[in-house]
Amino acid sequence: MRGSRYIGRYAPSPTGPLHFGSLVAAVGSYLEARRRQGLWLLRIEDIDPPREMPGAKDLILKALEAFGFQWDGPVLYQSDRIEHYQAAVASLVDRGHAYPCSCSRARLRRLGFGTLYPGLCRNGTEAHPLGHAIRVLTHDEPIAFTDRRCGPQSQRLESSVGDFVIRRRDGLYAYQLAVVVDDAAQGITEVVRGADLLQSTPRQIHLQRLLGLPTPAYLHLPVVTDAAGRKLSKQTGAPPLDLDHPTMGLWEALAFLGHPPPLPLRRANVQALWEWAHHHWDPARIPAPDPRQGGIKKTRTPARAPGTRS
Ligand code: GLU
Repeated sequence: MRGSRYIGRYAPSPTGPLHFGSLVAAVGSYLEARRRQGLWLLRIEDIDPPREMPGAKDLILKALEAFGFQWDGPVLYQSDRIEHYQAAVASLVDRGHAYPCSCSRARLRRLGFGTLYPGLCRNGTEAHPLGHAIRVLTHDEPIAFTDRRCGPQSQRLESSVGDFVIRRRDGLYAYQLAVVVDDAAQGITEVVRGADLLQSTPRQIHLQRLLGLPTPAYLHLPVVTDAAGRKLSKQTGAPPLDLDHPTMGLWEALAFLGHPPPLPLRRANVQALWEWAHHHWDPARIPAPDPRQGGIKKTRTPARAPGTRS
């Protein structure tokens, strides 16, 4: 499976049924993996039970089947991989790259801090009745990478994100950590996903470096938004995909990615549409990013609590 072969993946979280935005990410990653004669792996990111919807895992697999996707090998469930996340966190803590933190959001708010964690527990933390989270140390050297669609990106983590949580106070592992451990374990060579995750990529590259894992290539696809400009999601009321008419949805997803198939194919079957798509797929046709949106948000002014280590 390894070597120079392209390995892509699709990694939905089972927080609800797939919607049009999820379909676009699946279609983009699938077609690119097939164009590169690579593998397309499916990973269900079920590490956050409080956010999950019962039955969503099966609904996602059914939807992918109805749309004619064929993934390679068995589905990987993150809920089966907790020991690997545990080992990664332990290795970061043991080597001084991560530390316990007992700051609650309420405490940080009370102290006047926003979402940028100011490093209060870098030099030690007090015991807290609710336990503690684990944060990874960040630095302010720019973390740079070139996204295949969005171009060169760079972010200074310490002053724009701060030391971020890799294991939550409730014992659950953070998406940023699990995704890095699993992309490496599955040998992913390129991550193709929605541009809402462009912002997360420097954090993932930081963790890859600390854990001695390879950095895959990245291609972030345009994000589907609703009429109000918000990313489609279950929270904003995105309707589930219509599994009775997969051809329509697939046609629309291809058109959204800059590949409108001939109109008569709207009435064909999904196989005919996939055939057309495999034949015509060219990532250069994916619409370019809107220059007004830019890439990763600009680094904010460093804000650090008095007396914390730099
Ligand atoms: N599980 C994430 C989601 O559904 C995607 C993770 C990724 O592609 O890196 O939004």
